Amino acid sequence: MKKAEWLECITCRDERLIKRLKSFEGSLAKCTECGLIFRNPKPSYETIKEYYKDDYSNIFLEEQTKNYRKGIFRHFLAPSIKDKGEGRLLDVGSGYGIFLSLAKDLGWEVYGIELSEDACQFARKNFGLNVFCGDLEEASFPKDHFDVVTLWNVLDHTTNPLEQLLEIKQILKDNGLLFIRLPNFLFQGKSRCIGEAFDRLFFGHTNLSRKISVSHLYAFTPSSIANLLERAGFSTFRLKNSPPAKGDPYCAFPFLGDILLNWIKNSFFISCELLYHLSLGKILWGPSMEVFASKKEQKF
Ligand SMILES: [Zn+2]
Repeated sequence: MKKAEWLECITCRDERLIKRLKSFEGSLAKCTECGLIFRNPKPSYETIKEYYKDDYSNIFLEEQTKNYRKGIFRHFLAPSIKDKGEGRLLDVGSGYGIFLSLAKDLGWEVYGIELSEDACQFARKNFGLNVFCGDLEEASFPKDHFDVVTLWNVLDHTTNPLEQLLEIKQILKDNGLLFIRLPNFLFQGKSRCIGEAFDRLFFGHTNLSRKISVSHLYAFTPSSIANLLERAGFSTFRLKNSPPAKGDPYCAFPFLGDILLNWIKNSFFISCELLYHLSLGKILWGPSMEVFASKKEQKF
């Protein structure tokens, strides 16, 4: 690929800092200054919008029918934001509205933003939700409007996460909470390498690397998401391992069955939690992480 096709880092703005990563078929690049990892070259907004129109619906319909993430949503709504009381909550990339419908049942005044027209219609029709079809900028919400803004496995799909965070900072109240769940590249990158080695052993028939590892437009590590939040002007934040979704949301291992898969995922999660606590919060190695952030100093 020609040098001219390389993208610059969205935060450091210098293409000379970008290095290609060997794993992920050379499709990912890393900024040596801030650690941000991203797909390079980046697909256009139109390409991404087309992708979600077709594939997004199918993936999330699977989740919707089997309710794999409901447990994580309840876990977040119960202890994490209990102290904030009821208020105005925005879910960016609200999909079919399952999380918002749970929040609404608990008394939150809920709003959603979603690119997929099908998903918006489903959320409006089935849960009576207020969902805007488009992106955050187009929605034009007032400043200091929301008590809580959530992004469930969405930020790594956006074309410019820094711009998203800056937009959110505008519409979030001073004492509001920003919550982000996203894959942790410290786990995903390593598991991809292990999967690739396994695939080579079986001449590519296993396709394990793609089943055990995810990467989208951006791939975040604990330190790169912390850097990005700082650059966007969020003053405090806390990172945690995120509990795994139940069962097999993407039908990657149908032969294992939900019970065995749950046992494997939960055992691994407990090991990651043990490592996190023994290292006094320094080692975050779970497959997914949760980020709690705010504009003003506060405890999460
Ligand atoms: Zn950078």
